[in-house]
Amino acid sequence: MSGKIKMYENTKILFDKAADFINISEEGRFLLKTHYRELSVQMPIRMDDGSLKVFTGYRIQHNGSRGPYKGGIRFHPSVDIDEVRALAALMTWKTALVDIPFGGAKGGVNCDTKKLSLTELERLSKSYMAKIDLIIGPYRDIPAPDMNTNAQVMAWMMSEYGKKHGHTLAIITGKPIPLGGSLGREEATGRGCVYIVKEACKDFNIDISKSTCVIQGFGNVGSNAAKFMSEEGSKIISVSDVQGAIYNKDGLNIEELIKYRNKNSTVIGFPNTTQLTNEEMLELECDILIPAALEGVIHGGNAHKIKTKLIVEAANAPISVDADDILESMGIPVVPDILANAGGVIVSYFEWVQNLQQFTWDLDEINSKLKKKINKAYREMMNYSQKNKLSLRISAFALAIERVIEVVKLRGWG
Ligand code: NAD
Repeated sequence: MSGKIKMYENTKILFDKAADFINISEEGRFLLKTHYRELSVQMPIRMDDGSLKVFTGYRIQHNGSRGPYKGGIRFHPSVDIDEVRALAALMTWKTALVDIPFGGAKGGVNCDTKKLSLTELERLSKSYMAKIDLIIGPYRDIPAPDMNTNAQVMAWMMSEYGKKHGHTLAIITGKPIPLGGSLGREEATGRGCVYIVKEACKDFNIDISKSTCVIQGFGNVGSNAAKFMSEEGSKIISVSDVQGAIYNKDGLNIEELIKYRNKNSTVIGFPNTTQLTNEEMLELECDILIPAALEGVIHGGNAHKIKTKLIVEAANAPISVDADDILESMGIPVVPDILANAGGVIVSYFEWVQNLQQFTWDLDEINSKLKKKINKAYREMMNYSQKNKLSLRISAFALAIERVIEVVKLRGWG
């Protein structure tokens, strides 16, 4: 079974575990395990060399009971309908858990952005928006960035949407600041993740200022998490990207490393480091492990080799269900993705509100609102876990599902 098929299966298993605990009816389960709408689109793109290449993309809306659908758009060669389904469902639980007025959706395009020129990427981004615009809208479905998409891609997509529907800032979040983006959005997922690490350190008796930390992935989320962790005094001993990992037992200078990565497009070769594989780095002894790259990287085959005191999931679904059970038996707490990486969608919510109000907030206000919202959700999940003797992940799912069920019942099932 491939990792990505497992991810969708995993999401359903987690849902069932939480649904068993809160005792949901069969019809409720069926409603919440299926998706509201699935759109698959074809994008023929004229490449720079004159050839025609046909790409496939998806926009999948899982559940919109709590508000307009919300979720990022991923450009990656692994994208397929099951991956997008899994990520869309996770968005429903994430927005409910952190209590923002959205449902869950996700988009994806099967492509390798490293093989596209900037102009090809622009044509693909605009073509994708032109094909999905019929099911989105500022009160219907609001996309955002995810892996390999960024503020520039959001700007192209917003611009394309505007051609048919008129200038609409609130159609997409994660935009560049001069085009309606929010201060703090770019680093929000990494910042929110570190707010959560700080709370978890208090509960699991880790002194963050004396901690060692390993971070897989050094893109938007991983590099910002590294920056904020090092500001807290944590020693980042290893980070990685798709090309491999670097290690220095005395800690990495994250500011310098970010400059190095910006110049060289990789962390590999950073001075005074030894190179490891991504698999080896996950097994390093450390206080805090932050997977911030791909799904399924900790699985039944390597979970027993993990030597950390705390895992905080910045990536979506980095731990498989079987690995979760192993880690629980080893006493390693895991703060789940639907909370730990929710900083991005929380500040996306703030961006949407600012766009609708045509009024901007300053950075201090955004960061303090983010901290309040994400820490409240952490405490609710922790209390639920302690009260019901459930893992943090199942507690997070159960809380989120209860909130969605509540509004589904208020609206009526049909
Ligand atoms: P990104 O594209 O900016 O960075 C991804 C990083 O992972 C890069 O350093 C890349 O080299 C590395 N990587 C890719 N394949 C890898 C592999 N096989 N092994 C090791 N490293 C690999 O993406 P991002 O926005 O930082 O997203 C990372 C994760 O966080 C994803 O799971 C994404 O869904 C999740 N996430 C992102 C946001 C956000 O706001 N960007 C919000 C919530 C969740």
